[in-house]
Amino acid sequence: MVSRVIPVDPFDLTIFGGTGDLARRKILPGLYRRFAAGQIPDGCRIVGAARSDLSQDAYRDEVSDALAEFVGKDKLSPDTLKAFLGLIRYVSIDATGDKGWSELKGHVRDDRISAFYFSVAPSLFGAIAERLHGHGIADDTTRIVVEKPFGRDLESARALNRTLAEHFDETQIYRIDHYLGKETVQNLMALRFGNVLFEPLWNSQFVDHIQITVAETVGVAGRGEYYDRSGAMRDMVQNHLMQLLCLIAMEPPSQFEPDAVRDEKLKVIRALEPVKPDEIVRGQYEGRSGGQSGAKSRVAPYHADVDDPDSRTESFIAMKVHVSNWRWAGTPFYLRTGKRLKARQSEIAVVFKDAPHSIFGAEAGRHRNILTIRLQPNEGMTLGVTIKEPGPGGMRLIDVPLDMTFADALGAENDQVTDAYERLVMDVIRGNQTLFMRGDEVEAAWAWTDPIIDGWVSADKRPYPYEPGSAGPEESQMLLHRENRRWREIRE
Ligand code: NAD
Repeated sequence: MVSRVIPVDPFDLTIFGGTGDLARRKILPGLYRRFAAGQIPDGCRIVGAARSDLSQDAYRDEVSDALAEFVGKDKLSPDTLKAFLGLIRYVSIDATGDKGWSELKGHVRDDRISAFYFSVAPSLFGAIAERLHGHGIADDTTRIVVEKPFGRDLESARALNRTLAEHFDETQIYRIDHYLGKETVQNLMALRFGNVLFEPLWNSQFVDHIQITVAETVGVAGRGEYYDRSGAMRDMVQNHLMQLLCLIAMEPPSQFEPDAVRDEKLKVIRALEPVKPDEIVRGQYEGRSGGQSGAKSRVAPYHADVDDPDSRTESFIAMKVHVSNWRWAGTPFYLRTGKRLKARQSEIAVVFKDAPHSIFGAEAGRHRNILTIRLQPNEGMTLGVTIKEPGPGGMRLIDVPLDMTFADALGAENDQVTDAYERLVMDVIRGNQTLFMRGDEVEAAWAWTDPIIDGWVSADKRPYPYEPGSAGPEESQMLLHRENRRWREIRE
């Protein structure tokens, strides 16, 4: 199946932080793929703006290297690469000074969409916004894209929102949460609101509980300083897991339209109950010495990765969350995320209740329908259904998956859809804010998160240690076991 590509209108996109890690790994490769797919018309400009002094050619070489590394040398066609590099410009700029701004103005044309990606530290947002206006580069049609972290608590998020609001209207601000750009996440909405099958069951009458897991194998080495000030709650739950929860829990919006969708998500966040301390498990990974003959590689413990033997920041968190409204009262949402876990796996599992009465007797065992929505690896969905075990020998029941792996179902040329950034950047150019967080959503998420964090800070408790390569601390298993439930396995 070949996907339909509709070219966007001509644009000039400036990437502040154009030499940074995010630009190299995600933004530029995403733009290249969209260009190769025919979605970016000739004559657009992609302007890198960063601190380094680089010539135009030196920056193009950097872009070319980044594409070779993150798109893959074998996937670059020489002609397409040459044409793409033709769109690239570079400006050496000082976000907090005067250097480079007049030059940038010369690159950004009036007769097309202009967007500015703030791929820099949030402390620079205000200075950049102010200069874009001060130098007459931005106007009320300009779009800006901002990255996480959007604040570290309610107060700082409000301050950032106020700073941006001084210069831009909310309709011009695109707050990225790349989880929302994932194909599966959007498919979740298609599944819920495009089919008649699931929505009648999508409530506490039929759903026993929901699990959201985002497991990573990497540790925090290399970004320890940032991570240690943040922790799993701020880095993952307040934004990514919260967004997933919203999409699962929200009421059907009247239209698939930005404010209709975001209004419904906001209602979910506002319906979240405070989480009780005994329904939260925080963990911190230990180290591993390497074992005999290097069978298992050595892993540094968390406190070494962040260079603080006394750190109490969590690299893992599991929690039970209640959405208090008519639809969900009594159906818990269990969230868990962590570093250095057994496998890289993100999934949402909707665990339906048992059939009200088993006509097959106790020996048939307990069977439950579970709808699993996989974000990675192998984006797709699986519905576990109970059937009769084939063959003679009586009525024995087994669970089999009805599987839909997108790469299989849609064909190999759709493998590029797995990258969320390229979809989101194109949405910015199309002026579609549906998959971006609105300011009040972000603030509501912090308003829920802050007291939870304050709770453990004032209790001054250490996170539970857990082995690298495990599913997190034992206590996280207990969170479900004590309610006769169990986490789904994190599979290698
Ligand atoms: P980075 O440190 O690799 O790059 C920073 C960029 O900002 C560089 O291009 C640098 O030249 C530029 N810069 C710094 N100070 C400047 C100044 N005064 N004037 C002009 N340019 C200046 O950072 P990164 O990892 O690319 O992250 C950028 C932003 O994106 C951060 O806010 C980060 O939190 C966020 N983010 C990054 C990732 C990631 O995977 N790297 C993921 C999510 C969010």
